[in-house]
Amino acid sequence: MTAPDPAVLAARVDRVQDRIAAAGGDPHQVQLLAVTKGFGPEIALAAAGAGLIDLGENYAQELVAKAPVVAERFEVRWHAIGRLQRNKVRSLAPLVHLWQTIDRLDLGLEVAKRAPGARILVQVNVSDEPQKGGCDPGDAAELVARLTDAGLAVQGLMTVGRTGNPAEAQAGFRLLRGLADTLNLPVRSMGMSGDLEAAVAEGATMVRVGSALFGPRPSVPGAPAGPR
Ligand SMILES: *Cc1c(COP(=O)(O)O)cnc(C)c1O
Repeated sequence: MTAPDPAVLAARVDRVQDRIAAAGGDPHQVQLLAVTKGFGPEIALAAAGAGLIDLGENYAQELVAKAPVVAERFEVRWHAIGRLQRNKVRSLAPLVHLWQTIDRLDLGLEVAKRAPGARILVQVNVSDEPQKGGCDPGDAAELVARLTDAGLAVQGLMTVGRTGNPAEAQAGFRLLRGLADTLNLPVRSMGMSGDLEAAVAEGATMVRVGSALFGPRPSVPGAPAGPR
């Protein structure tokens, strides 16, 4: 696969920032996480070249493969945004800037062991869709407390909106916002290419965007299709 034309990518970044602004967000405040999963390292390099230095990956093996290639030319921050198995934590520990999908204590404790003091977000399932990751909203406070006790830097909450109509996702984003406020957590990672307006309207501080920047993803062998 070839890298996108830098002018095309720059125009897409502008377009996403316009969408953030149109939804009432300040594009300088809402962090844009470029989701490079499913693409080769050339897309991650193109993103970094366009100034997108926060990059999101779902699969450990992809992140581990791309990080050294990108590091030769750019200093980027990798975000782990996929469902995570405990046995993948060790290989990711030296590479991950922000672990966004910590949704259970045993996983968090493994991160605390392999990357003491790491920055994390607690993933919350606000849509009641069992195929998605995330703890129950009612369990978030306890989990945040236990992870903090384990020495992790809990910076905020993350969620994947309800699949389908973005208007339906919005109630879930509002719930995440309220939960983060109650727990005094500043970071709210929510919204993707299809529903970022709804997330920004509800106070997202970070949106995770793949296809709106890079086009449709090539399929990842062995990977589940949708965001989890
Ligand atoms: C793939 C993915 C994204 C980006 O999805 P797009 O629809 O391509 O913007 C964001 N967040 C998570 C958790 C994902 O898995």
